[in-house]
Amino acid sequence: MSGRPDLRGDCERCFGLCCVALPFAASADFAIDKDAGRPCPNLAEDHRCGIHARLRDKGFNGCTVYDCFGAGQRVSQVTFAGQDWRSGPAQRARAMFEVFPVVRQLHELLRYLTEALALPAARPVHAGLRRALGRTERLAGGTPEELAALDVAAHRQEVDVLLLRASELVRAGVRGRRRDRRGADLIGARLRGADLRGVSLRGACLIAADLTGADLRGADLIGADLRDADLTDADLTGAFFVTQPQLNAARGSAGTRLPGSLARPVHWTAQI
Ligand code: SF4
Repeated sequence: MSGRPDLRGDCERCFGLCCVALPFAASADFAIDKDAGRPCPNLAEDHRCGIHARLRDKGFNGCTVYDCFGAGQRVSQVTFAGQDWRSGPAQRARAMFEVFPVVRQLHELLRYLTEALALPAARPVHAGLRRALGRTERLAGGTPEELAALDVAAHRQEVDVLLLRASELVRAGVRGRRRDRRGADLIGARLRGADLRGVSLRGACLIAADLTGADLRGADLIGADLRDADLTDADLTGAFFVTQPQLNAARGSAGTRLPGSLARPVHWTAQI
């Protein structure tokens, strides 16, 4: 996100950790099964993806929508001081793969906390958010042993209380119905032109939902699953806790209005 380039994946400084540490299953998102800790067969010796320009054509959509939020370069360059998992002992490689998902979660929290601190309406909880940001930074900077032992789920829960309160404060200032659709099952829902201003869609499942022309201004989209959702001409101005991977997984158009810090996915305009 803007102002925090360290919270965006920088594959040039990473040892392809997401392509090794994470598992995936053959599905609409991945062409093959792969176990955690096993390098993807498309990963080259120089840690570049051998099919990077053809991922969608080759059935690896899941790779195009993934973002480590900068965890890859931190684990590669800081936690393990630039030591490549290929050249060291197997024990070190295992340790890298173990802590990568932990740091990824911490970086995701850093990204949300940073955004919340930029939301003027959340000012009543800014002090708490700043403390949580500092604590999360310290945890992310831990040693491999400290990271492996961390109860990241418990820390996530603590941070989530603050993010939830920030969301309530922001949405209270949005005109509209501000309904709570947290965790709603909206797979394939027909929401064309819907008034979703200030709605909480935290963790909502919006896979393949038709959100064409929907008004999502000031909506909370934290953790919403937007895979294949149609955001053509939707208005997401002021929507918050939306990430680039969420947008990358959706469909949209040149007419979709986005929150300022996010980029229009290339495949949106390529479709037109
Ligand atoms: S297909 Fe490419 S980007 Fe996806 S996991 Fe394999 S090497 Fe990584």
